[in-house]
Amino acid sequence: MKPTLQRPAGWPLSVSTPVVSPIAPSVVYASRSPDELDSQYEGRASGYTYAREGHPNADVLARRVDALEGATGGVVLGSGMAAVAAVLLGLCQSGDHVIGADQLYGRSLRMMKEDLPRLGIATSLVDATRTEAVAAALRPETRMVLVEVVSNPTLRIADLTGIAALCAERGVLLVVDNTFTTPLGIRPFEHGADIVLHSVTKLLSGHSDATLGWVAAKDPALTDRMRVFAVTTGLTASPFDCWLAERGLATFALRYARAQDSAQRLGDFLAGQDGVRRVLYPTRPDHPEAARAQSLLQGRGGHLLSFEIEGGRAAANAFAETAKGIAFAPTLGDVGTTLSHPASSSHRALTAEARTAMGVSEGFFRVSVGLEEPEALMATFAEGLAAARDA
Ligand SMILES: *Cc1c(COP(=O)(O)O)cnc(C)c1O
Repeated sequence: MKPTLQRPAGWPLSVSTPVVSPIAPSVVYASRSPDELDSQYEGRASGYTYAREGHPNADVLARRVDALEGATGGVVLGSGMAAVAAVLLGLCQSGDHVIGADQLYGRSLRMMKEDLPRLGIATSLVDATRTEAVAAALRPETRMVLVEVVSNPTLRIADLTGIAALCAERGVLLVVDNTFTTPLGIRPFEHGADIVLHSVTKLLSGHSDATLGWVAAKDPALTDRMRVFAVTTGLTASPFDCWLAERGLATFALRYARAQDSAQRLGDFLAGQDGVRRVLYPTRPDHPEAARAQSLLQGRGGHLLSFEIEGGRAAANAFAETAKGIAFAPTLGDVGTTLSHPASSSHRALTAEARTAMGVSEGFFRVSVGLEEPEALMATFAEGLAAARDA
């Protein structure tokens, strides 16, 4: 019998092209000759070599997110935290100082508190709603300031304009994690950000079935350093996840509009209910930074909403158990509404005093509003509240 080669087939040729991106799971890419490899490495021809270094599905997705953020050459990575790591660990070095908002995403906070200091990078955490607090923390060796426009879980609004002006004046990089707000809420490059990053896992991808990140810098040399660091440390995204996210992105604008509209309506509804102590939503007039939310977000409050009920942990248990159909899960940006209870999840490591200081009590919930009928959501929340009042 004639021995057959392992991979003789190749892809069937077609004069027509697929309208949906194919998934390219290949880890390796074969070249025709050493000369061809030379032209690829020397930038005269474009091509892939090894998936950790880059693959078509990551590039297709990266160009889509680039377009949304008004960026060029952004990099898709294996998670939002991979993007945070690419910025903090890929661009800083021992002796540098980094300032972060004190309400950053939990794992970002952990990297700031535990990992950077271990590597000789000093960090300060400050209240990003006040530019004076950022200014007071600046040092000659400050390399960058990392903020989220809308904070977790109290949805406070960073003074992006003031911080951007300060960073520009002092030659410090401004990094914005735009996961919560999304490019339909704000495009941070247009407000002075030097670097923007995303957990694509959340609203951009939107279906809680892909873990991905994206990062881009205004200065292509910085983006390139992050890309090289990511390739070296293996922060690469899976082709299948990238393909899922590309599919999710096709409906991002529709999902955003629907979720935002419902979040606003749910916020107004909750504010009028017995047993609700307060509602936090960026476009509500009683939001602590209502004027800033208006000027920065121009009425786009987004899909996240927080509220506090009376009755402490017992009421919180009753609410979560009764509001069936709302996944009690610490994530956001899913097609379905999810409910998170920071005191028992994202913020459980803090002392009760520290939680109280930031306004996170046992009755505090954060809601990521999904695509359900708003009336059905309100009815479910009303049932939860009734149970909480009886608890
Ligand atoms: C989820 C999230 C991250 C981390 O993203 P992963 O994809 O889970 O690694 C970072 N920042 C913010 C604001 C997030 O919500």
